[in-house]
Amino acid sequence: MKRVLPKITAVVLLAMAVTACSGQEETSQVSGSVEVLSPVNDSKSGYTLKFIELSGLDNLREVSGRFVRFFISPRILDNRLNGPSPQGRFIKNSEGKYVPANEQSQQLVAIYSHMQNLAKLDEAVGAGGVNHWPRDIGVAVRESSGLTNNALYDGTTDSILIVPYTKENLPIAVNGGILAHEHFHSLFFKLVMKGFDDPSDNNQTDTGSIHDRNGFMKAAGIVEEASDAAVNPRVDDGGLKKGHGRAVVISEKLVKRYYNRYFHRALNEGLADVWGWVYTGDPDFIASSLPAFKGLRTLNVADYEVVSLVKAERFRDFSAAYVNYRDRSQYEDDMRDKSYRLGTQYSRLLKLFTETAADARNVDHQEMRKEVAKWIVAALPVYRQDFIDTDSQGYYPPTRFLSVLASVIPDLNQKECEFLAEVVNSTEENTAKTCVASAKRYDLTEAKK
Ligand SMILES: [Zn+2]
Repeated sequence: MKRVLPKITAVVLLAMAVTACSGQEETSQVSGSVEVLSPVNDSKSGYTLKFIELSGLDNLREVSGRFVRFFISPRILDNRLNGPSPQGRFIKNSEGKYVPANEQSQQLVAIYSHMQNLAKLDEAVGAGGVNHWPRDIGVAVRESSGLTNNALYDGTTDSILIVPYTKENLPIAVNGGILAHEHFHSLFFKLVMKGFDDPSDNNQTDTGSIHDRNGFMKAAGIVEEASDAAVNPRVDDGGLKKGHGRAVVISEKLVKRYYNRYFHRALNEGLADVWGWVYTGDPDFIASSLPAFKGLRTLNVADYEVVSLVKAERFRDFSAAYVNYRDRSQYEDDMRDKSYRLGTQYSRLLKLFTETAADARNVDHQEMRKEVAKWIVAALPVYRQDFIDTDSQGYYPPTRFLSVLASVIPDLNQKECEFLAEVVNSTEENTAKTCVASAKRYDLTEAKK
């Protein structure tokens, strides 16, 4: 997996040398289904170059069509990406297939093919009507603090933004798992977040241009998101006060709004990592581009960590605590970091749940991943409503999402039910779950005390 880029570049140069004498095609006239050389992840040997078919192209030169519309170094105008289309360079080989002639062209092709596949995955798992296509994608996005090696889904513009990649591993633009992660955020945004909170909150961090976007600029971790813009608490300076060297005082009401915001983020991030794994089959898809995050974000754990899930409870405590923070941004950075960690516990848990289900049902693991993706899509609107219904009762328990998930599985079996019950029982102090058989399925219900 390492140093795939130099290898790919070498192949491209070789292809150029072989075909240079055949001349340049006017690629803006090339449309429909086109065979193009692209890095493909076959999950066994990593990324290799293969000819793949891009379909629904309007224009090969811009690599635009039914699935993607690209913008190079875009700005944001009226909540839409605005900017020129990139101009890809391709060489037609003697078989009428196209070889990208530079790195950017190769990345456009890779992104287009992944989005084409992700559209099919949406259809297959019941999310076909959620997004409108083509998807808007910004490449070579220039962000004022010079952020590199990152990507995000932005709910306001409904687009994926990719900033330059400077490392020597797999570029993010080529990493199907990271693109799937970002794509999932668009599903979560539309099925869970959209219109969730007072719409007037939207203006808090989305001021119309990437260069003004605080959430993006402060990005400390990998694939930082602005997708929860709709639920950004309206930060009321009266709610969080900085004393003269004293502890930050934060109102209970504001803490709860922060908790909700970061809990949504945790679930969103955790499920997005599941989506990356569902799509690639690679539990370390993030490490392919960002090896430093392997330990933090790997889904490859042998057992789910009760201790870490209990931390979900501590996360709630943390949120409620009136603790010492230098200022609000330090508090927010800490909460963001913790929400990613909680998210990873969800993704690891769901991978183990998928494996438990595959064994219980005697189903191939790849097939099972798709089945679990269906359940997640079915669970999102239920979770949204459940969250709205119970919001006034206090903090939303982190394992409640597992009960929501259980409720949408039409043929939940005993092993799956017991797996989920054990997680809930070992994590939450005030609830006890048991599995009761009904006509065609098991139900995760409240145990008698
Ligand atoms: Zn994310």
